[in-house]
Amino acid sequence: NNQEGTILITGGAGFIGSNFIQYFMGEHPNVTILNIDKLTYAGSTDNLKEVERSDRYQFIHGDIAHVSLVKHVFQNYDIRGVIHFAAESHVDRSIEDSRAFIESNVLGTMTLLQAARDDWEKKGEISSRRFHQISTDEIYGSLGSDGKFSEETTYDPRNPYSASKAGANLLVKSFGYTYGMNIVISSSSNNYGPKQHKEKLIPTIIRKALAGEHIPIYGDGKNIRDWLYVEDHCRALDAIYHQGKPLETYNVGGGNEKTNIAIAKQICDILDQIKPEIKLQAGIHSFKELITFTEDRKGHDRRYAVDDRKLRNELGWKPKEDLDDALRKTVEWYVKQWNLQTNR
Ligand code: NAD
Repeated sequence: NNQEGTILITGGAGFIGSNFIQYFMGEHPNVTILNIDKLTYAGSTDNLKEVERSDRYQFIHGDIAHVSLVKHVFQNYDIRGVIHFAAESHVDRSIEDSRAFIESNVLGTMTLLQAARDDWEKKGEISSRRFHQISTDEIYGSLGSDGKFSEETTYDPRNPYSASKAGANLLVKSFGYTYGMNIVISSSSNNYGPKQHKEKLIPTIIRKALAGEHIPIYGDGKNIRDWLYVEDHCRALDAIYHQGKPLETYNVGGGNEKTNIAIAKQICDILDQIKPEIKLQAGIHSFKELITFTEDRKGHDRRYAVDDRKLRNELGWKPKEDLDDALRKTVEWYVKQWNLQTNR
């Protein structure tokens, strides 16, 4: 029964992991969460304020690539399943230096897989306990103006981050085929919502606008991403973790393809309404005046879009949130954080 016992979440102090822990604990009252996170620059226990006092939540500050630590975790807790979010996740950083991406995303995944396999084989549970790998649509490469990535699309990663995630997925699959492990993979499009690190696109747009600074947009701003609200992603992950078929991959999309410039303008429109006093201080009529195009990211994928009919048809998932409403909620959340930090 995978509706109870201890589930190991990795990277739960990051953006999606922290949103997921809160969602999952709310949905599954008999589950205990053990969260292992290295607390890199991208992770913060501040993201876990809503759950940290619960007796169904425990935190381990550690690295998933640390072999003896991960073994110790499996020996000391009866881990019923793993949902593996931990990763170095920022493409630009991987272009600067990819070592940490290989260490955490590839070696870290292998370390978890080996520890889970050892423990679950001993317990005769290798084919029943679940290992869920959280992945990205970036593994599939870049699209032209039409078409979508399906679960059968050949991996064609174009930057060190997506290459490391593709490598990790292949290892996960291999543990399924070689040892009969009950693995499942989900590959989602770009997430947005509360608690995302400030260096990512949407938080950067909001932060720069509120500071009255230039809002940097790569290239011509026409790169397209399919935006998925993080809570919709969490609901998809819950369904895939519990009902996804072993060895299968499920794509998760938002059904919201937008160019980066369109997202930036939409955020500026929202800020124009909720923070007019900052516009006045900055001497502008609209935050859109702050948008500036910068030199394009190297190897910048033009368009991502996923076909997620498998998830919709087999597991009955569909996104609940409308982009306009969820983006507004998201902007309001960051503005509130900013107000708290600056006491405005
Ligand atoms: P994030 O960078 O916000 O969080 C990653 C977390 O992992 C951080 O808390 C960090 O401290 C932790 N971590 C990193 N290396 C670790 C290690 N070696 N050991 C233990 N913990 C470590 O990332 P995110 O945006 O929440 O992404 C989570 C997962 O979802 C990643 O696997 C990412 O590839 C995938 N994903 C993200 C998106 C997106 O739009 N953000 C889309 C698709 C897939």
